[in-house]
Amino acid sequence: MTDLSEHLAEQLEELKMFQRVDKELGATLDFDNVLMLTMDWALRRTGAAAGMFVTIAEQEGLLKCLTALGYSPADAQTKTWRLERSILGRAVRTRQSQHVTDLAADPDHCPEDALPETRSVIAVPIELRGRVIGVIWLEGDAPDTFSAADVAFVGRLAQRAAIALDHARLYREAARQADEMASLYTASRMISASLERPQVLAIAAQSLATTLRVSSVVMADYRKLQGEIEIVHTYRLATARPTTSVLPQLGSALALESLPEIRDAIEAQRASSHSAQADSLSDALREFMATYTAQSLLIIPLATAPTTLSAEQSEVVGVALAIENRHERHFSADDHALAEALGSQIASALRQARLYAEVRELEGIKTHMIRMASHDLRNPLNLAMNYFEMFLDTLETASFSERQKRYVERVQKAHQSMETLIKDLLTLEKVESEREALWQIVDFNALVSAEVEAQRAAAELKRHTLTLQLPAATLYVRGSQTQLRQAISNLINNAIKYTPDGGLIQVRLSAKERRLLLEVQDNGYGISKERQERLFSSFYRAREPGTDHIGGSGLGLSLVRTAIERHGGKVWVNSEAGIGSIFSFWLPLAQS
Ligand code: ADP
Repeated sequence: MTDLSEHLAEQLEELKMFQRVDKELGATLDFDNVLMLTMDWALRRTGAAAGMFVTIAEQEGLLKCLTALGYSPADAQTKTWRLERSILGRAVRTRQSQHVTDLAADPDHCPEDALPETRSVIAVPIELRGRVIGVIWLEGDAPDTFSAADVAFVGRLAQRAAIALDHARLYREAARQADEMASLYTASRMISASLERPQVLAIAAQSLATTLRVSSVVMADYRKLQGEIEIVHTYRLATARPTTSVLPQLGSALALESLPEIRDAIEAQRASSHSAQADSLSDALREFMATYTAQSLLIIPLATAPTTLSAEQSEVVGVALAIENRHERHFSADDHALAEALGSQIASALRQARLYAEVRELEGIKTHMIRMASHDLRNPLNLAMNYFEMFLDTLETASFSERQKRYVERVQKAHQSMETLIKDLLTLEKVESEREALWQIVDFNALVSAEVEAQRAAAELKRHTLTLQLPAATLYVRGSQTQLRQAISNLINNAIKYTPDGGLIQVRLSAKERRLLLEVQDNGYGISKERQERLFSSFYRAREPGTDHIGGSGLGLSLVRTAIERHGGKVWVNSEAGIGSIFSFWLPLAQS
């Protein structure tokens, strides 16, 4: 009876202990922590004098210590056992717990395998999915330090440790993958941040080399028509510099006909890896790898991802060659996936850069055209008008018939509107090309006041009342005085123009938070809702009833928008046909 209750009490005790073991091991995902906790439990429960957690270095046929308790640190670090001939090795080979009570008599024991005072040992293998991954080794200084129950306990502890270690390993793997994702994210952000091709190429090559951890990267353009790739950029990792290897010459071309590996990667749009040792290499690729001392090579097609939104096909714009010449390298499936993901980022960035260059070229052509048109048109136009006036001088204009007078008037009006158009075109071009570096702090109150005064005469000519409301404090904006003046002037000028005689024009300046607000209100013709949308586009004129006689180029509001948006602001309109309009814009105030 007492035996039974003693046994039950023992079992209960052990159950409680395992509950605590599970709790402690379950709470940590750190590999070293799991090892330490396991050894701590093993020693505390068995009363061992010292213990180690031993792992297997298979290639070398050795066992090595991972964590030790009760040894001198130097001992623990350098300690190894032979897999073939040691008690520890026997535990691994037989996958059975070893309990040795008379150490000296064990045929597999070497004196240097344990502490001098050790008399007995236990060695318990730790198995995970049918494989021994380590051994718990405990030393006692008496022949009977360990009981059979101790060995059973350590066996169960080993099972739990195996699971905890597996969790820790998975966690470590997940953390590594998260790290990889983070570096992929940083790389892709950096790659797509630039619009200049040389910069995109440089950042792309560097990102590939660091993310894939290869010694160098060669970037090449794909020339589909010629069936070749052309080397456009090379990069070598700073730490791989001392190698004597050379990198391909910029501008050199490789014919794809003799490089099936690269051709296939481009056609399939899949990355492929190759080892210099492989028998199946094509002669040309073998020679390429030998010339540039590449031991391993990853071919990465730079293919833009197909978009479902547009009808665009995915397009291969180039190839990156990731070269490892320090040692043989096996590229895993993860490496391939990572390379393809980066490859597609790089392809989009390169295409983006190409579009940007095209747009810039078109911009250049446009500017040139505008300049040419304005100057080349202005001279013959003025010449024609001068001759026309001189021609009129030779005639008796007073005796012109009504019809003749109308003809003359039409010519003069047409000339006037062409003059305005040319002037507006030139201003617009100037605003678009003005550099931000020349911007200054502008006193906005003064600017608005001056502009209202400048237009007062024109307003009075149409018998308008023109009022101005300014805030108590002076508002400052960082920007181009010319552009801002032009914007204010156009709005006031339009209000005067598109309001029938005797109207009321109110200009209001105010500030709210870190912005200023300018409003120009009139009680004129107004604009119907459906025409408001296009108001700010170049050359658009909203023809409302009664405004046919008013001349203009349709460039004024587009100029206002360009100028205000350049300054980080926004312009909009509230208007109702037949009632009037309020044109408003806000601008960020200058930092004092
Ligand atoms: P423009 O005045 O040279 O035609 P804008 O770009 O300045 O060109 O204006 C575009 C069009 O917007 C004008 O043709 C006119 O129909 C309309 N518009 C602009 N300002 C007003 C306003 N204050 N009231 C009514 N319509 C306006």
